[in-house]
Amino acid sequence: MERTWDGHLFLGSNASPILGKELVDYITQYLGSIRERRVIPDVKPGYMKELLPDTAPTEPEDWESIFKDIEKVIMPGVVHWQSPHMHAYYPSLTSWPSMLGDMLADAINCVGFTWASSPACTELEMNVMDWLCKALGLPSFFLHHHPDSIGGGILQSTVSESTLVALLAARKDKMLQLRVELNQDVDDSVLNSRLVAYTSDQAHSSVEKAGLISLVKIRYLSTDERLSLRGDTLKQAIQEDRRRGLVPFLLCATLGTTGVCAFDNLSELGSVCAEEGLWLHVDAAYAGSAYFCPELRWSLDGIEFAHSFVFNPSKWMMVHFDCTAFWVKDKYKLQQTFTVDPVYLRHENSQAATDFMNWQIPLSRRFRSLKLWFVMRSFGLKNLQAHIRHLAKLFESKIRSDPHFEVPAERHLGLVVFCLKGGNALTQELLRRLTRSGTMYLIPADIHTKRIIRFTVTSQFTTTEDILKDWVLPFLFFPRDLISRG
Ligand SMILES: *Cc1c(COP(=O)(O)O)cnc(C)c1O
Repeated sequence: MERTWDGHLFLGSNASPILGKELVDYITQYLGSIRERRVIPDVKPGYMKELLPDTAPTEPEDWESIFKDIEKVIMPGVVHWQSPHMHAYYPSLTSWPSMLGDMLADAINCVGFTWASSPACTELEMNVMDWLCKALGLPSFFLHHHPDSIGGGILQSTVSESTLVALLAARKDKMLQLRVELNQDVDDSVLNSRLVAYTSDQAHSSVEKAGLISLVKIRYLSTDERLSLRGDTLKQAIQEDRRRGLVPFLLCATLGTTGVCAFDNLSELGSVCAEEGLWLHVDAAYAGSAYFCPELRWSLDGIEFAHSFVFNPSKWMMVHFDCTAFWVKDKYKLQQTFTVDPVYLRHENSQAATDFMNWQIPLSRRFRSLKLWFVMRSFGLKNLQAHIRHLAKLFESKIRSDPHFEVPAERHLGLVVFCLKGGNALTQELLRRLTRSGTMYLIPADIHTKRIIRFTVTSQFTTTEDILKDWVLPFLFFPRDLISRG
């Protein structure tokens, strides 16, 4: 069939919805048979160059030939993140309501930087962020719609960006205070050079990156035996730094670290931040989804001290990437950091309405709240809780029952970490062989000097059989040859 540009319509006006259905069928088939694919592709860097022409086609191509290339060019190089045998990183789950929400958002394709640029885009986001705040048991000062609140939530692209946003807002706030205290005209760069922020030695690399970008010093504080940052450690660091003439202004605490899912002691840290005038930013990128379940909220003790909180619905909550939920206690502190006011973005309702462009780094923003709204409504809180309770206990019990393995840190939520008793080199070799086999995808981390393997289970499609199959794999690829050589 000949399908070409007719001047306005891509692939002909009648054809495109039909092709949409074809692609949905393909997606259904892909997700339904994903267990049968290798999780990790068997390709080398540059593999795609040979499969593609050197230049874009001059003449339009028909859809059939484009469609065929999905399996030929793309799939051989895909890591199948939705596979139940994907245990690397943290999960990046999706679901039909989420994908349908994004289809609609893509069709509307508004760029909701101000309220006026598409009121529904801003208002759905405000309402759904309030729903989410309440559903997770977060403080009411994070709500948009609450008589005593001057805070609110926004969807950002990533936790990394949100942490940078929190740092920039905290920095601005501290610089304004310093300017008043010093009562003299000091250049911002001089003030910036005196600032210091804290995080734990287990924190995500995005905190380091926020420091690199902002030219702010970050101090990495040591954690206790459970890899948790404690109040006394923070207090001591603040005192030392004040003696050195520095100005402590921010703590980035982690709930659910990337390495082993450890939790900083928020209640101890929060009261130190309050006494010392530090902005408390909480990174719960992965673990945030757990707070749908009241019994998992113990680590939120102290959240009342937080100035900002961020987590990724795009990890565990089945709202696909990108979707990062970020709340601040005082929206004016964000706005004083990010507000610009060019005439072409002003509108009649500037005073009464929320303009999210002043809460973030970019100007433009997608209609991300649709997918979040669809997911919360389609599953209901009840099924979201059931999804979270589907934990990694089975794999942990298998690992613990075998004398070759050890579990070097407590399991939290859906993350089990393990290693071989024979030492780092053996653990690394097991991981290398498993990765090469393509049968399941795991990644390493370190606990101090110990090399460990991270195993996350969270996919809504993971069955007991999948886990039992996973459990056999380490034995198939066990580096016995190395052990016998001593
Ligand atoms: C995944 C993760 C991040 C990074 O999230 P992005 O949204 O990719 O920036 C940050 N912190 C922690 C604790 C994480 O697990």
